[in-house]
Amino acid sequence: MVLAQLGGSIARALARMKDATVVDDKVLADCLNEISRALLQADVRFETVRDVKANIKSIVSLDALAAGTDKRRVIQKAVVGELCRMLDPGKPAFTPGKGKPSVVMFVGLQGSGKTTTCTKYADYYRRKGFSPALVCADTFRAGAFDQLKQNASKAKIPFHGSYIVSDPVKIAVEGVDRFRNEKCDLIIVDTSGRHKQEAALFEEMRQISEATKPDLVIFVMDGSIGQAAFDQAQAFKQSASVGAVIVTKMDGHAKGGGALSAVAATRSPIIFIGTGEHIPDFEAFDVKPFVSRLLGMGDLSGLMDKIQNVMPADELLPKLTEGAFTLRLLYEMFQNLQNMGSLGQLFSMIPGLPAQFIEKGKEKEGQAKIKRYMTIMDSMTEKELDNTYPKLMNESRMKRIARGSGRPVNEVVDVLEEHKRIAKMWSKLPFQNIKRPSTNNRD
Ligand code: GDP
Repeated sequence: MVLAQLGGSIARALARMKDATVVDDKVLADCLNEISRALLQADVRFETVRDVKANIKSIVSLDALAAGTDKRRVIQKAVVGELCRMLDPGKPAFTPGKGKPSVVMFVGLQGSGKTTTCTKYADYYRRKGFSPALVCADTFRAGAFDQLKQNASKAKIPFHGSYIVSDPVKIAVEGVDRFRNEKCDLIIVDTSGRHKQEAALFEEMRQISEATKPDLVIFVMDGSIGQAAFDQAQAFKQSASVGAVIVTKMDGHAKGGGALSAVAATRSPIIFIGTGEHIPDFEAFDVKPFVSRLLGMGDLSGLMDKIQNVMPADELLPKLTEGAFTLRLLYEMFQNLQNMGSLGQLFSMIPGLPAQFIEKGKEKEGQAKIKRYMTIMDSMTEKELDNTYPKLMNESRMKRIARGSGRPVNEVVDVLEEHKRIAKMWSKLPFQNIKRPSTNNRD
């Protein structure tokens, strides 16, 4: 899970405050100190942490609160608000529009994950109905074109590059022209991340940018550098007119929080985060849902975004809004979840579904459990699968399913219990309030 440690520490600080019999200045100070410590550990800049703490304190002036006010709620709201403010650059980024050709240029240092991210970005929009294409304008690094070609082929995205042309500007222009003619509506240009001198790198970016006139320049940055992200993001912003940032390697790096807040401090909007090496390990970044998920409060819109990647909203939403959470739907979700990378990441987006089902750091076991559950469900009849609530189930059916799947009866009972629990939880989720995603927007 992204930034699990930071989120866990802050959530624990808030929970401890909830346990206190009386919320006085001391309880608030302890809570704020714990939150500050967690932020500093995540490599958030000292100045930012100091401001967060001071702002929460001034919002939550305990003496001034009217009698009867729920102080815990006020404090929790202030903490969430300040964390959001810390990550909010204060301005939105350009988002491509379907059917309207856009050119997006990727810049970043070598090793940041730029080429991988170009494909993830293209794939994200392809799933939303766009026709993306990739152009490799990195002629500096041997093997750059091969890498892009390999990634693009895997994701079934058209690509352009050359083994012989050494002028990156020429290739970029050729590629953009070609894909414009082919009516692609999202043309992504990958640039070099290294040169003998930094000045030459920035000069090349400037030339490619001048020749291709991108609608958006995205800076890709390695999140594991923590607060050092501030200087890097600032330098690229000034030299390459960066309009948005993607922070990669947010999986398993304790310094991710520092990187995110440092980028926000340069007033550059973060639009996605990379959470692994594979194509689906990519998440749209929105401050509020991100903070909500960080603190274990769930992230419905992120969850829907992920699920829609493998199950179209038009199919899923009616199934859920009707409250018909059948065993078959659970089976389909298991099937899809297996193609979606880290399960822990996904389950952390579900409000109210803590790690009992798939415990943090135990994704492999979770996957095996899902496989076992699916084997059991494979032995159910159509009628059993389509039953909303397993009223139909009786001892003889359970025994038959156990025999058919070669699993013990108690595991069949586990599956049914799990289904009951998840169905109950999903029935409480406000799916009716989720707007169906417009294919024109990022989210
Ligand atoms: P480039 O030199 O900037 O184009 O970087 P690459 O795309 O070649 O990526 C460098 C390395 O980082 C590769 O091994 C990628 O698999 C890896 N990588 C990229 N994004 C992520 C991410 O979000 N998480 C993790 N763990 N690895 C990543």
